[in-house]
Amino acid sequence: MTSTSTDDMRSGEARYRARTEFDEVAWGSHCADCFPSNCRYHVFVKDGKVVREEIAGPRPDRLEPNGKFPDVYPQGCNKGAAWSAQLDAGDRLLRPLRRVGERGSGQWEEISWDVALDAVADGIIDAIEKYGPESIMREGTPEIVGTTAIERLIGMLGATSTDLNASIGDFAPGIHLTMGKSFLWHDEPAAFESELVLIWHSNPVYTYITFYHYFTEARYNGTEIVLLGPDVSPSHMHVDHHVPVRPGSDAALSLAMAQVIVEEGLVDEAFVRNQTDLSLLVRADTGRFLRARDIDPDGRDDQFFHIDQSGAVKEADRGNLLPDGYIPSLDGAAEVTLADGSVVAVRPLMVRMVDHLRAFRPEDVFESTGIAPETVRMLARKVAAKKTKVWMGMAANKAYHSDLYQRTMLLVLALTGNWGSPGRDSTTGPAARWMGGPSRGRRRDRASRVRRRSWRRSTRSTSSSCRSIRRCHRRSPRSTCCAPRGRAVAR
Ligand code: SF4
Repeated sequence: MTSTSTDDMRSGEARYRARTEFDEVAWGSHCADCFPSNCRYHVFVKDGKVVREEIAGPRPDRLEPNGKFPDVYPQGCNKGAAWSAQLDAGDRLLRPLRRVGERGSGQWEEISWDVALDAVADGIIDAIEKYGPESIMREGTPEIVGTTAIERLIGMLGATSTDLNASIGDFAPGIHLTMGKSFLWHDEPAAFESELVLIWHSNPVYTYITFYHYFTEARYNGTEIVLLGPDVSPSHMHVDHHVPVRPGSDAALSLAMAQVIVEEGLVDEAFVRNQTDLSLLVRADTGRFLRARDIDPDGRDDQFFHIDQSGAVKEADRGNLLPDGYIPSLDGAAEVTLADGSVVAVRPLMVRMVDHLRAFRPEDVFESTGIAPETVRMLARKVAAKKTKVWMGMAANKAYHSDLYQRTMLLVLALTGNWGSPGRDSTTGPAARWMGGPSRGRRRDRASRVRRRSWRRSTRSTSSSCRSIRRCHRRSPRSTCCAPRGRAVAR
């Protein structure tokens, strides 16, 4: 055992004091790939360099005004607190480099910013001249502030930017397949209003540091928290139940929960009738929704049908989720005569889905999920009885066929009336909020086509002088000879 002398302690204290000395305190934040980004920090500066950071106190205007929820503070994370270490890190690139050897040879030379910017501008102009602006591709990335100017440039050029969520694997196709254009989202404090939170495909203690406290505060308030995931993650010790579902079997688990909800009569039928398409009629021969065009060649393609409680076929209201004058049946069947004179059996989608679920009793999925049937039943009953939120982690977006995870999780919530009201919702996590879609290069509404044609005309009219404009730019970036081109690009 070693002992620490008083001198050692003093020198250690002196070193610590020297390390934490500062000349001034400034405001700072970080705006790269994190969530929510831009947390408020005090930045301590010495000799013009940041020496450390500390989370700043609450902003009075951001405190929860009615005292209903805990406030967000302290808002920050330990990754952020270490951020400034990168400013002077030895491997940080501070000057542009140009490859001088074979690709992969690792040979580079340092060049000036002017040379680098000219090279990029040359490349952009060459690409526009040869192939058109769509040939310029920007890979979508999630930094928030940093991308604003880049996106503007891409938009003005008419170039293409990839969907950032698709690029980084945060796109949640299952949610769009289920909800259409809408996307599910929630306020983080709303966990406080849930009675049950299923953390599924997520390890928020590590990955959602700034907001994880809402889960612990909700739990303190009485909310039950369940973690569904195969590993003993750092989040697992803070939950009421850990359900170690085998990797890749989440959809089977959700379907087994749905089967229990149906079998035990736990379905919120009013919600299902009015808020889902499970009440719409499906043709027995094709498995597709019955449409007005099937019955009448002049009928609409987006006109669907119900059967009412007496078994009569009714046109579903296309403008209102609540049918006027009848209650759509979730059961039964009917026959309709199609435009070609043939007769086809139709039944509500709910009937078809219940048939499908028969193969997913908890006992049937035990081998694939590894979850005991009684645990599946317990979970299903809890979801049906409580205001439930599913916190779908980003990992739910990244597996092969993970759209099936999302769709089946949403099915469980739909059957139990668990979306659209306080405490009942689902989300796939932070990046979904940004939803940066493909940029103008791929959006082809009429206005953008007109702009694009105009841009092409202006490009053609100026392309012959592109080279001279480029030379002119080099000589004088503000030269008036570039102004017409600048205006054309900016339209
Ligand atoms: S989440 Fe972390 S890295 Fe992002 S701004 Fe907040 S403290 Fe900084």
